[in-house]
Amino acid sequence: MLTIKIGKAKDNDFVVDAPSVSRHHALLKRDENGSLFLEDLSSTNGTFVNGIQILKKRIACTDTVLLGKSPLNISEALNSNNDYIQEFAALKEVYEKYTAQKVRIQSATTFRTRLFQAAPFALPGIVGFVISFSGSGGMIFRAICLAIAVCAPAAGIYMGAQQAAKAPQQLQELADQFKIDYVCPKCGIFLGEIPWESLANKKNCSVQSCKAKWANRT
Ligand SMILES: [Zn+2]
Repeated sequence: MLTIKIGKAKDNDFVVDAPSVSRHHALLKRDENGSLFLEDLSSTNGTFVNGIQILKKRIACTDTVLLGKSPLNISEALNSNNDYIQEFAALKEVYEKYTAQKVRIQSATTFRTRLFQAAPFALPGIVGFVISFSGSGGMIFRAICLAIAVCAPAAGIYMGAQQAAKAPQQLQELADQFKIDYVCPKCGIFLGEIPWESLANKKNCSVQSCKAKWANRT
């Protein structure tokens, strides 16, 4: 079901700026079967189909329609439809993927950072300390073990820090892509990090010149 609001006011889907046209003059509807209907919205100068004033009438594209004295191009009005409901619905997945990936990057980084820092501590560090203080082996061997015991945690901390530094870059790349994908399907404006459901509740694009319909009015 497609509904196109026609009139002089800027908030119509199809604006007809003529003296005999009311602010909210008529509705052009197309049902599931493709049938067209024209409905007058108690306009001042009336709506006419083939010379006869109507309140609500099934029409064809070839009919001559007048809004007051102003002719209405039906095909043009149909093309003005702001229905982006299907395209907007596809953005739900874009938002969900973005938030899921963001969480994945953040938690994976935290886990890997801890692993890199903890593992060198736990294995060669302990072994190095045990050997260097157990008295077995020569001086040089014990010195090497002690060096490993000291260096392993340092290397672990360094690698962990490097791993953590990767995260902002990955998040930046993700955010950049999100800014390209999460846009109004009509005017292309970035929708911000606003949950899809919140935008769906707004129902329309807030850009004045766009007014794309995102979701059905309830
Ligand atoms: Zn828009």
